[in-house]
Amino acid sequence: MITVGVIGAGAIGSCVALSLAQRGVRVHCVDRGRPGGLTTDVSFARLSAYQQPTYQRFELSHTGIMEHTHFAGQFASAPWRHPTGSLAWAGSEGTCGVSARPFVAEIERLQSWGYRISWRDAAKVNQELEPAVSFSPTQTPVALLPEEGWIDGPGMVSSVLDAARSIGELTFTNAAVREIEVRGERVVALRLDNGERIEVDAVVNAAGPRAPAVAASLGAPMLRGIADRSSLVIDLVVDGDPLRHVLRGAELHARPAGPGRVRVRSEQVDSVLTGETESDLGRDNVEDLLGRAYRTIPALKASTVDQKRIGTAVFPADGMPSVGPLSTVPGYYEAFANSGVILAPFIGRTLATQIFTGEVHSLLRDCSPDRLRLAA
Ligand SMILES: Cc1cc2nc3c(=O)[nH]c(=O)nc-3n(C[C@H](O)[C@H](O)[C@H](O)COP(=O)(O)OP(=O)(O)OC[C@H]3O[C@@H](n4cnc5c(N)ncnc54)[C@H](O)[C@@H]3O)c2cc1C
Repeated sequence: MITVGVIGAGAIGSCVALSLAQRGVRVHCVDRGRPGGLTTDVSFARLSAYQQPTYQRFELSHTGIMEHTHFAGQFASAPWRHPTGSLAWAGSEGTCGVSARPFVAEIERLQSWGYRISWRDAAKVNQELEPAVSFSPTQTPVALLPEEGWIDGPGMVSSVLDAARSIGELTFTNAAVREIEVRGERVVALRLDNGERIEVDAVVNAAGPRAPAVAASLGAPMLRGIADRSSLVIDLVVDGDPLRHVLRGAELHARPAGPGRVRVRSEQVDSVLTGETESDLGRDNVEDLLGRAYRTIPALKASTVDQKRIGTAVFPADGMPSVGPLSTVPGYYEAFANSGVILAPFIGRTLATQIFTGEVHSLLRDCSPDRLRLAA
């Protein structure tokens, strides 16, 4: 039986750990914090293939959404998965959010790629689907994207780790990986900040925003562009459940976030963030986002703010995930991606296959970690 260390128990690391355990691998999962408590917790965690730069990236996201359905089917219940569908509409200038691409053109492009979308008029949406939303003007055409939804990231991580434990092959350690030990060029162990040393045959770097730092500590830095994107995310507590769908509105993104809770963010607000931190969110930004939320969903005027956070996603700048082995360090694998919540079950399954058989899924052919080591 082989032993694999998984660094990071976010959406991606937990899914990798489960897929490996299902293949009879002994898995040592190590996380310095709470499983699912970093990017996966603050994420908007929407299942969506909207606004992808290329058909290849669209296909990857679309496959990721479908994989979630199969993945959830492995569990007796999957309360973390919310296939609500989403609603999208543009402002009077014809764009949705800060995208330069006209909204109708984007919807038509997605339809031509086989994404299911239908048009509704706003009055019908208010009558039949989403009474709480205020559309302006009231005749706004609204796109219904029924394949979309959202994921409770920390809830999924917790169930996935429980499932891996129940197979009997998962050990979880709450500590930081300080070093990946390499002997004769091959990965042999993880060294933790609590002094522990865990012998492994292979390691998967699924450390999310810390993945580049973990790779650098191994002497295999990611030299090609790493991008990051920050977002102000507010969770509101409100009586009842005003929202049924994920919303991609002209000035606001919103989704249910569990009973009596709604999560909001806005591309317009995010576009003016300038290095705000958790302790200094910028009062104007918070007020701007709340104003957009109240205009779009008037029932939220009676809500209270539960959490205000800056979420930062870190990912390869070419937009494609980094999944697979690094050819220069046998035994070292990466699982580092943008849209990591959508892609987590797909990456988990396909990377486990790759570790076992060397087979690379056709959608991951351009996703080798080697490409990030070429100087830009
Ligand atoms: C505001 C926002 C909105 C987003 N919206 C979406 C969306 O709608 N849909 C979507 O699919 N994606 C979205 N994303 C991106 C998505 O959330 C991330 O791609 C995904 O959560 C990454 O998961 P992960 O497991 O790679 O990383 P993380 O969840 O960050 O997990 C990494 C784990 O590694 C651990 N770790 C780090 N370093 C070490 C170490 N040295 N030793 C041990 N443990 C370590 C951390 O403690 C952490 O638990 C969004 C992100 C943000 C910030």
